[in-house]
Amino acid sequence: MKHNFGAGPCILPQEVFKQASQGVLNFNDTGLSILEISHRASEFVAVMDEAISLAKELLNVPEGYSVVFLQGGASLQFAMAAFNLLPEDKKAVYLETGVWAKKAFAEAKLLGNAEVIASSKDKNYSYIPKDYAIDADSAYFHCTSNNTIYGTQMHSFPQTTVGKVCDMSSDIFSRVIDVADFDLIYAGAQKNIGPAGATLVIVKNDILGKSGRVIPSMLDYQKQIDAESMYNTPPVFSVYVSMLNLRWLKAKGGVAAIEQENIAKAKALYTEIDRNPLFKGTAALEDRSNMSVCFVMENPELEKPFLKYAEELGCIGIKGHRSVGGFRASLYNALPITSVHVLVEAMQDFAEKNV
Ligand code: PLP
Repeated sequence: MKHNFGAGPCILPQEVFKQASQGVLNFNDTGLSILEISHRASEFVAVMDEAISLAKELLNVPEGYSVVFLQGGASLQFAMAAFNLLPEDKKAVYLETGVWAKKAFAEAKLLGNAEVIASSKDKNYSYIPKDYAIDADSAYFHCTSNNTIYGTQMHSFPQTTVGKVCDMSSDIFSRVIDVADFDLIYAGAQKNIGPAGATLVIVKNDILGKSGRVIPSMLDYQKQIDAESMYNTPPVFSVYVSMLNLRWLKAKGGVAAIEQENIAKAKALYTEIDRNPLFKGTAALEDRSNMSVCFVMENPELEKPFLKYAEELGCIGIKGHRSVGGFRASLYNALPITSVHVLVEAMQDFAEKNV
């Protein structure tokens, strides 16, 4: 049995993969694949509608917000956010907590005035900066809720009258969030939502149409909302599987229920990292992520043997990102706590043999 701690793309429950494969062969007994029916056919429109309504329900999206499935990944949102929300005479402010935040900032900078108001680059992004002020006149404040590579997570968001834009690619649907606290939330699908291809965007309607910019149609939130996520051919497979996965999440009790599981998984792993003399965590304690757990070994020479040992026990995908090294265990919604227990036991057994 494999325990997939990989960072993506797309770690989903086995039952969702099974349903998805059935839909590819014979969607809802139509005798056709979900991939071949027209995206304008009522069968697919129903899939899109259900995916959007499940996203709204599970995240408790208030009135006045639109939810769309777009393409281009979170990376295109870096530019779209600026196109739609950054007027020429205003400045957007960015919290730089890792390379994704840096890339988001770089896209805004291509278009207009943007500034990094705080950064944790000095310590290889191992913490979330807290000491900064947001100028009340800023166009928006941009942040990344979970820093997938470095294992840090924002456990609170700044209090400000400036609208918040958040890249939630790697922790959306993993914990309860207050959507009303944000003007714009975006997330590439391929972690807790579904296969790569779709990007979920949640946007407050009344912030749109104010940037004064000429926006290419595909990058215009309002046009995408008006076209009900079908301005062009949508990524049908990704949306379909996202819908199946959100159904799975709802049946599990929704985001509040999965959040408790995610907290328990992270606690089990961090407890072992802190207890075991061979390992140490890389992120600042108060900013540790419940989704992306990064750790190294006190003796780097043991890292290769431990990786091999863990892989023999079925724990795959734990090699850390090259910019942090060591290990990264991604604890996405689909990963059961029993898999975390296997990894913890591997760490304990390895320590017994190597101390
Ligand atoms: N933002 C975060 C936090 C990510 O983790 C990633 C990818 O892992 C991205 C953005 C880039 O997403 P995409 O590949 O969908 O453009």
